[in-house]
Amino acid sequence: MSGSADTLARLPVTSLSGVGPALAEKLAKLGIRTVQQLLFHLPSRYLDRTRVQPIGALQPGISAVIEAEVRAADVVYGRRRSLVCRVQDNTGTLTLRFFHFTGAQKQRLTRGARLRCFAEARRGASGLEMVHPEYELLADGDNKPLAQSLTPHYPTTDGLTQPRLRSLTQQALAMLERYQLEELLPERVRKTLDQIPLAEALCLLHTPPKGVDLQQLAEGIHPFQQRLAFEELLAHQLSMLQFRQGIRSQKALPLHPAPELQQEFLTQLPFNLTGAQARVSTDIQNDLARAEPMLRLVQGDVGSGKTVVAALAALTAVAANKQAAIMAPTEILAEQHRVNFSAWLAPLGIHVGWLSGKLGQKARREQVADIASGRAQVVVGTHALFQEEVAFADLALAIIDEQHRFGVHQRLALGEKGARGECTPHQLIMTATPIPRTLAMSAYADLDCSVIDELPPGRTPVTTAVISDQRREQIIERVRAACGEGRQAYWVCTLIEESESLEAQAAEATADNLKEQLRELRIGLVHGRLKAAEKEAVMSAFKAGELDLLVATTVIEVGVDVPNASLMIIENPERLGLSQLHQLRGRVGRGREASHCVLLYGTPLSRNSKARLKVMRESSDGFYIAEQDLELRGPGEVLGTRQTGQMEFRVADLQRDGHLLDAVREAGELIINRDPARASAIVERWLGGRERYLGA
Ligand code: ADP
Ligand code: MG
Repeated sequence: MSGSADTLARLPVTSLSGVGPALAEKLAKLGIRTVQQLLFHLPSRYLDRTRVQPIGALQPGISAVIEAEVRAADVVYGRRRSLVCRVQDNTGTLTLRFFHFTGAQKQRLTRGARLRCFAEARRGASGLEMVHPEYELLADGDNKPLAQSLTPHYPTTDGLTQPRLRSLTQQALAMLERYQLEELLPERVRKTLDQIPLAEALCLLHTPPKGVDLQQLAEGIHPFQQRLAFEELLAHQLSMLQFRQGIRSQKALPLHPAPELQQEFLTQLPFNLTGAQARVSTDIQNDLARAEPMLRLVQGDVGSGKTVVAALAALTAVAANKQAAIMAPTEILAEQHRVNFSAWLAPLGIHVGWLSGKLGQKARREQVADIASGRAQVVVGTHALFQEEVAFADLALAIIDEQHRFGVHQRLALGEKGARGECTPHQLIMTATPIPRTLAMSAYADLDCSVIDELPPGRTPVTTAVISDQRREQIIERVRAACGEGRQAYWVCTLIEESESLEAQAAEATADNLKEQLRELRIGLVHGRLKAAEKEAVMSAFKAGELDLLVATTVIEVGVDVPNASLMIIENPERLGLSQLHQLRGRVGRGREASHCVLLYGTPLSRNSKARLKVMRESSDGFYIAEQDLELRGPGEVLGTRQTGQMEFRVADLQRDGHLLDAVREAGELIINRDPARASAIVERWLGGRERYLGA
């Protein structure tokens, strides 16, 4: 029996047994609304539940099955009430910890009960523990069979357990016998992929049978995974091509070059444009003069002078009596742009508007009014520009700085700001994170690209030293000496945890410590937990030379420009990606003084970390560093989590599957041109459940 080909794509998850409205809602959070979407919700990894491990052999960070007897179980009233269970086998003891538990659960987990548990072992206060393990009670002499195949582990959401997801997926897989999954790849594309049927590939990945090559599977190079990876990459490619086609089919107002205004602007600058700046500006001018919207990415290493290029583009809009907006990812950066743009443009009689989250009610209302009336010709701001109440009189150009901080397509929301009339604004995206070519192809398939591949003259390269924190005292003396000579320094604190408050605490402690040791220096502190106004105050004091040393978290990473700062200490640089380190280091080396960067690493350093820090010591070429970073860490990390909106793959891995990209691109062009309906079906299948473009 076989249903119509796209039945599974239309069958809601509620048609599975046991799925009511509450569960459906949870599934929807994962982008799963149909049975097909459930089938395409693929495991992120596999767990081995085919054997029981002795407690004595458990390793932190590794999931395992254990069988043990409960020795004691108590409800503990700490910061959070929890049920704590000590269990034991003949090789050791282990703590089980439950923060959520029912009375019935507590009753069953009494002394003497035998359990089979499964979870990741973690280091706890008193030895290894498992938090919220999956468990079952074993009756005496009970010999329950262990798993025969690897256990898939799915990305999930609060309140949706792995066993629940697994059993639902099994139900969905069983449906594959009755309903076909439509093959969407055209025949000639499938030929290159061993003709592996889609349904078979999905079955294998959800339930890897005995005998499957585990190593291949773990590495993601199993032919069945590659079959799916190809289709997934293709879906992403098609989605971007569609997006691009959509934009390109809209009309934009041609903005013609305004040589006089430009000349006036350039003459008042204290420097000449570099060749690269001039070339990229020409690219932009050419785009702007066309009646279709520009979609251009400008990549330029830290300090290559992207801001001036942005200002030139904005001038072109102003000359046509239209508005330009420039958005920066942080208050600090936006503020810096505001200062620069005002200084450059006010003398030309251009009014620069300003919108940030920290504006007071009244100021904000005034700014919003200026934007709406067109009095603000150039508007600088943070993501506050996205907000609904912000309506531009006539936005012709949207510039987004340091794009990698935003979601890949968050820029769209700003683009749409001007789209109320019949014209769509031109879009210029600027990033200092050099994007390795393999990534550029897929993450930015929809953008034209220009590179500012030359630094302004007169920069002295930053000397980088890699030093163990055992020599901390020595480094502190170095800071004392540099500041004693009237120079300024950064001291950057890093933290592994994704917690802003922990990071802030650590930075505070470091600052206190340094104040203690460097009593004669004026020391400031910025971190993400400060109020915007406090941050601003510290930054501008540092900029004005009223502080000698700035202790900071990585909030200073992007774009901050203080030429007199010529020394930077980065603590625990091994915790950061190379591109991020490169960004940070770019804060020094902006003036005439020879600049130094000290990477003060914690010991012991892994071999990989050593290799990475060596790259930093030896190179100051952002592209080379990014390529190395990609090689040593992988693309998810390189692009940063914010960007994963589009880049989060189910099976594909850009680095591993880079060899597929040429074929993917070719297939993409073929399908989008010959069979747009098929293109939509592929995109829908892989990306349909997700929010495709991040809005405000
Ligand atoms: P980024 O590309 O990192 O955004 P900025 O636009 O902040 O770089 O420029 C870094 C510094 O270089 C600024 O102080 C800027 O005024 C200066 N600058 C930009 N272009 C030139 C140039 N052609 N010659 C000299 N200095 C320049
Ligand atoms: Mg910049």
